[in-house]
Amino acid sequence: MHAYRSALLRFNQQGQVLYDEDGVLVIGPDATGRQVVQLAGDYGALQARLASAFPGLAVTPLPGRILAPGFVDLHIHYPQTDVIGSPADGLLPWLENYTFPHESRFGDPAYAAEVARFFLDELQRNGVTTALTFATSHPSSVDALMSEARARGLRLIAGKVLQDRHSPDGVRDETEQSLIDTETLIRKWHGVERLGYAITPRFAPTSSERQLRGAGELAAKYRDVWIQSHVAENREEIAWVHELFPQSRSYLSVYEEFGLLRERAVYAHCIHVDDADRALMRDRGAVAAVCPTSNLFLGSGFFDYAGADRVGHGYGLASDVGGGTSFSPFRTMLAAYYVGREGVAKPGLSLSPQRLWWLHTAGAAQALGLEGVIGNLQPGHEADFLVLNPAATPLLARKTAQARNLDELLFALIVLGDERVVERVAVNGAWAAPVPA
Ligand SMILES: [Zn+2]
Repeated sequence: MHAYRSALLRFNQQGQVLYDEDGVLVIGPDATGRQVVQLAGDYGALQARLASAFPGLAVTPLPGRILAPGFVDLHIHYPQTDVIGSPADGLLPWLENYTFPHESRFGDPAYAAEVARFFLDELQRNGVTTALTFATSHPSSVDALMSEARARGLRLIAGKVLQDRHSPDGVRDETEQSLIDTETLIRKWHGVERLGYAITPRFAPTSSERQLRGAGELAAKYRDVWIQSHVAENREEIAWVHELFPQSRSYLSVYEEFGLLRERAVYAHCIHVDDADRALMRDRGAVAAVCPTSNLFLGSGFFDYAGADRVGHGYGLASDVGGGTSFSPFRTMLAAYYVGREGVAKPGLSLSPQRLWWLHTAGAAQALGLEGVIGNLQPGHEADFLVLNPAATPLLARKTAQARNLDELLFALIVLGDERVVERVAVNGAWAAPVPA
């Protein structure tokens, strides 16, 4: 059992930030042995309860710091850790020239393990405690990442990429074997401690109809397994999908026709969609992973938050490294704000700092179907949390000291913050070992 006293950030059920300037957070095991939040709130108001429920428990003060939920990244590619920042003329040349050649190396378990370690270190350094990540088409790439995540006690979701056509040698898989491998990996990893599996067709153009159908059959058989893929990222890609699937109403409909739209299905991008697509997402309970640094980097377009809200489907924030340009949730939240402001391609709006933060923590957890489990510091949530230093740089110290209210404080952190703000990370109730700089 551990107790910490510092400023405390969490969310109410409506997604508004609850902020205690002088808060207390108590962490301890629940009936099943999971490390969860036992008590959270204003220190003065909870002092008597703290003394009666946890007599003699020492409270560790963290002066000048903010305790906050770990960030949740809804879409990332761990094998693209070394592809980040590669120059290209857009999505399809970027895949061909950088991504596929790099991913072809993950058949080597030792190589995959080395990248997995670096990737998880980088997530931790940036305060990301849960990610939904692609592996490569090689089963060994999943084994490497899951083994490393398990050793660290992380809640992590990953899957072997399915891509049996329009893909070069080295990453292309074989239809029947790919489905057998997927089911084997589900049985091996899904629900093991805090790990989850995601059925992972790369995107519709790189899977045959047989592979998509098989993926849909597995999604029906294993209802609590996740699904992850990409949809409607850019115009060339959409035109290609229409050539390959001429009978489908839209790109998103292709996934619907193969049984790949349901709860726990997370589709990256969702930029060039219409209201019929949005209604389909809503009705099936599928959600969008909004990837603003990637969409700006590759010039793909701007996610329409107002459109998503009007129709009412779920979404949350994601880095999409290596198309995305940063592992940092602060950079992603700032880019999400830029994308919201853009008012030519779609209606422009200002996402509030509280909304941006929620979309990368409790909101992202809700999109994963893990509401009440991660992404918040209310009692009962798993104890993945951060110690943030709002004075981590001279400019941040100056700016946050002048904040007159919560929105000003959070927005200063979003605009000026990066991994230097993330001082410590607790995973499953224990401090993660510092990652060497
Ligand atoms: Zn992606």
